[in-house]
Amino acid sequence: MAVVDRLGPELPDPIFERIAIVGVGLIGSSIARAARRVGAAGTIILADASPEVLERAKALDLGDEYSQSAFAAARGADAVIFCAPVGANEAIAREVGPALKPGAIVSDVGSVKSAVIAAIAPHLPDAVHLVPAHPVAGTEQSGPEAGFAALFVNRWCILTPPEGTSSEAVARLGRFWQALGSNIEVMSPSHHDLVLAITSHVPHLIAYNIVGTAADLEEVTRSEVIKFSAGGFRDFTRIAASDPTMWRDVFLHNKEAVLEMLGRFTEDLTALQRMIRRGDGDGLFELFTRTRAIRRGIVEQGQETRAPDFGRRAAEDGDG
Ligand code: NAP
Repeated sequence: MAVVDRLGPELPDPIFERIAIVGVGLIGSSIARAARRVGAAGTIILADASPEVLERAKALDLGDEYSQSAFAAARGADAVIFCAPVGANEAIAREVGPALKPGAIVSDVGSVKSAVIAAIAPHLPDAVHLVPAHPVAGTEQSGPEAGFAALFVNRWCILTPPEGTSSEAVARLGRFWQALGSNIEVMSPSHHDLVLAITSHVPHLIAYNIVGTAADLEEVTRSEVIKFSAGGFRDFTRIAASDPTMWRDVFLHNKEAVLEMLGRFTEDLTALQRMIRRGDGDGLFELFTRTRAIRRGIVEQGQETRAPDFGRRAAEDGDG
């Protein structure tokens, strides 16, 4: 099936006349591709700190205008979406703040929300609406070449507006993400951070850790780790190949929720360790049966396929 079909028909009118995307990596370039396909934005302005990334974006024809200056890109825009790593948001907000027109929507795509709002909000003029967002979609790839228009199709996009945000602005940004194929959920920033700590951040940390441990083993050679990786390890290596800058920033900015969830995880791991030591087969069987049911639930809700490629390759096929 063509990507255009999965994205839905082209809109009769753009949701935003001028949209600026700051940071043209996997997520920023995917937004640009999808917004253009469905006509969700009239003019797409792409900004990136790296002139080389901008050149690559231009070669891929991802936008209508290109700028190395976030300030220039944001001037006159109806919506500005920050798509750089979380740690860059404060500097970007400081730069674009004076360029924003009244009524503009400022958003981001960061995997962490409370810390991002604290970093961005102080730099925005009063007449601007801050509607942070997190598209729960991605791959372990980075850069403008890695993006594709169907990345957000049937994925959740979580909006975390601070208290008092205009409901009209929230609804408008929600319509934008829906046009890109996402399902919308609205929740508080702190709740988002707790939920994502257990569903995304801690799993990434575990993957980084297990791959690191395997790499450090002296009795098992590197070639053996690669050769026999089908036994579960391979999927960890995919996750552990995720962008180091992005994930460093996630852990530095969602410290409390991650530490809280890691505490629980460690307790449960200790309980599992005890079951193994005591030969408690019933306990192990009961836990593995419960976890299997969770996996079935994820597949049934369409957030995963049974295919070992996690459904991503299928979404990429056919995207230009
Ligand atoms: P990416 O592919 O590495 O792209 C980030 C881009 O931002 C790079 O081109 C980078 O340039 C640029 N950049 C860095 N600092 C900047 C600045 N101050 N001003 C303008 N541009 C700047 O990263 P990504 O995977 O798209 O992730 C971007 C954001 O999306 C992160 O906040 C992440 O938390 C969020 N997110 C990611 C995923 C995922 O699966 N990857 C999923 C959901 C949300 P340089 O390369 O030159 O540094």
